[in-house]
Amino acid sequence: MKHIVSHKNPDTDTIVAAITYAKLLNKQGIEAKPVRIGVLNKETEFLLNKFNVESPELVETLPEGTEIVLVDHNEKSQSIDNIDELNLTGIIDHHKFNIQTSGPLNIRAEIIGSTASIVTKLYNEAGIEIPKVDAQLLISAILSDTLYYRSPTTTEQDRQIVQDLNKIAEFEDLEQHSLDLFAAKSNLGDIEVEKMIKLDYKIFNFGGDDYAIGVMETTNAQYGINRKEEILDKLKEIKKNDNLKGVFYSIVDILNEENTTMTSGAEELELLKTIFGAQIKDDMAYLGNVLSRKKQLVPKFEAHFN
Ligand code: MG
Ligand code: MG
Ligand code: MG
Repeated sequence: MKHIVSHKNPDTDTIVAAITYAKLLNKQGIEAKPVRIGVLNKETEFLLNKFNVESPELVETLPEGTEIVLVDHNEKSQSIDNIDELNLTGIIDHHKFNIQTSGPLNIRAEIIGSTASIVTKLYNEAGIEIPKVDAQLLISAILSDTLYYRSPTTTEQDRQIVQDLNKIAEFEDLEQHSLDLFAAKSNLGDIEVEKMIKLDYKIFNFGGDDYAIGVMETTNAQYGINRKEEILDKLKEIKKNDNLKGVFYSIVDILNEENTTMTSGAEELELLKTIFGAQIKDDMAYLGNVLSRKKQLVPKFEAHFN
């Protein structure tokens, strides 16, 4: 049984890719099931409820030797804890690669807006009809990962794939559906601050040091800014407890396309000024139209440190 593994702090794209890719394999007569290694965010929860789709099983580790395929990630720090004991045979992803493997594997990687777009292409290449609910999920994941085509990661292919999928999914108003997804994601209630920071959170090694970058994609940026004091305290605490060189937390205002970043200290703030020409005010860095961690934040950090 192949286990299709979604990434830590899962987002809609990784969960949908795991569910739909496992289903594609099933349709090809291959035993497969999706798994997740963290709690669903509010957007994904809303989506699965809306279309009555079961959440992938939550696991901490898998039995030694289990065959796994990673979707929407390839870095071990973002994957299942005992990955080194497992039999990794495939990766489907749209991120930069940073993995060393012990054996050969099938890799499908593209410069494209979402892993869901790649899974759609795999369906088409296999000549297998996409079930309606899967088309609905795949569209949702593409709209989510590209922030309804606002992110610079968006490609013409993503738009075309959504148009084609919608012949099956039959959404009347795609933009409204994206707003519903973003509203669900933005509705954080009184979530505990560390959980909030780590909802969409990744560790990167820049120039030999570990840094973390959390992102809150929201239509209600003021909510995050109102919690500034507790966020700043927590970022300092996380930096110390998790042995990081720095922690960044970007509040990405989806509709106004603006990035406000908080940091674990003054040095980190200074770094944002140097690297991004950020404006610093009230202990926060204003980065302007920086929406994508993958395409805009990480590459600039890497260029700076290497
Ligand atoms: Mg993802
Ligand atoms: Mg993705
Ligand atoms: Mg994302």
